[in-house]
Amino acid sequence: MATVRIENATIWTGSPLPGGAIAVTDSVLFEGGRILALGATAKRLVADEVIDAVGGFVCLGFGDGHVHPLFGGLEPQFAPVRDRASAQEIAEVVGRWAQEHPTAEWIRGEGFDHTLAPNGVFMAAWLDAVVPDRPVVLRATDYHTVWVNSEALRRAGYQRGLVQPHDGEIVLDEFGDPTGTLREWGAWRPVYALVPEVDLKTRMIAIAQANECFVSAGLTWIQDAWVEATDVDTWIEADRSGLVTCRVAMALWADPNSWRDQVEQFVTARTKVDAAGSPRLVANTIKFFADGVIESATGALLEPYCDCPHSKGLPNWQPDELKSAVAAIDALGFQTHIHAIGDGAARMALDAIEHASVINGARDRRPVIAHTQLVADADLGRFAELGVIANFEPYWAKFDSWQTELTEPRLGAERTNRQFMIGTILRSGAPISFGSDWPVTTYAPLAGIQVAVTRKMTATGPTWMPQECLTVEEALLAYTSGVAFQAGDSAGVIRPGARADLVWLAADPRTVDPMQIENIAVLGTWADGRRVW
Ligand SMILES: [Zn+2]
Repeated sequence: MATVRIENATIWTGSPLPGGAIAVTDSVLFEGGRILALGATAKRLVADEVIDAVGGFVCLGFGDGHVHPLFGGLEPQFAPVRDRASAQEIAEVVGRWAQEHPTAEWIRGEGFDHTLAPNGVFMAAWLDAVVPDRPVVLRATDYHTVWVNSEALRRAGYQRGLVQPHDGEIVLDEFGDPTGTLREWGAWRPVYALVPEVDLKTRMIAIAQANECFVSAGLTWIQDAWVEATDVDTWIEADRSGLVTCRVAMALWADPNSWRDQVEQFVTARTKVDAAGSPRLVANTIKFFADGVIESATGALLEPYCDCPHSKGLPNWQPDELKSAVAAIDALGFQTHIHAIGDGAARMALDAIEHASVINGARDRRPVIAHTQLVADADLGRFAELGVIANFEPYWAKFDSWQTELTEPRLGAERTNRQFMIGTILRSGAPISFGSDWPVTTYAPLAGIQVAVTRKMTATGPTWMPQECLTVEEALLAYTSGVAFQAGDSAGVIRPGARADLVWLAADPRTVDPMQIENIAVLGTWADGRRVW
């Protein structure tokens, strides 16, 4: 086993000193996946390989507490609808892709900008003009909104007089005809059920692509936040084929309509992953979607939407049912991971976790509430009280077109300026972890850190909710120790005996211009002591 020393670096250990600063040293020695020594001791011991970090910065490998590797990795296989400037431009690239792929039965695309149509309503006719004869199904970058053409509507049997699902919205026009916009599962699952499954070879390519993205950005652990039965096999197969070099924790998706039948499958999946014997894979988390998203008015709120005074959104679960489900999987030793966007969803999620803690008794359970977009004042202290990890996607904490076009008109100014209270929840003593929700937004932790610190769109622009900005060190901790805590790691810092997950950056993010943090190059990544980038 080779012994490696990285020297001539700022080794930012993640360990707090008395007074609150984080301890730094200048070299680290590791072997066989474990850190052996730091500083002067590391330099006195013999190393097989010595890396001169040329004054760079080394910290614990980043973790992503909420990400979708398969969605992100598959996206390039479909029509390139992301980052288009208008609905018309999206339709054009879909038409071109369809022409270039005459044998594709379905035309798919992932990641279009759902702020490009008024109220986020996209019309089937716009796609019919470019692809009239084959079904088209496009998913927005929020992953909650879908845009289809008329042929897809026809195949799904969506027509005037349809019955709305209880867990979604088939958006209708003034005559009662489906527009082509589908919100949340209940509305779009019947369409995706008709789409042929992506074959294993393509799924392998997607995992390889996602893994490459992760390690190149300094990530050594990720939480796959939406895993269904076939995905478990995909991960095991990809790992066997050597395509996975970071560690992956799978969150198995709980269906509100059939979770009681799923419980046994969850246990089977966990056993299967353990039996596969990979040190990189684990499936011990269950994912719940408490609600949708505010931009589609499906996020669950405590008070009505401003633009729709009779609606408080669309919770995916009945509160008592969520309590029962969380308690059931918690009793089996699974970790809870709940998507909660609106303040109604956050309360429901906190209540369910509290219920499980009371019913099942004390244990080290590390439950996670993901996104934590809007939380009522009365609930802010409950994260710390219940030991709930508040997972944030810091890249979302900027006042962009999602906010101006789709969120503020629905929430109003007061609630709009109470979103992503990262600083407040951190100061309340709650554990926090960061993630990206990629492909919703970039997987790069340095880009997330930049926004967590600045909450700005541009260098000269305003800071959104300045009291919620973190220091660079706080943001680094949330992306390293914070996620390591979510992962169940016992150390979460760089010290002898700890896991040798390390990232080497070209510059110290604490000393560069905060608006340049995302441009710092990632020069090396080590996962369990193995160089993976
Ligand atoms: Zn997600």
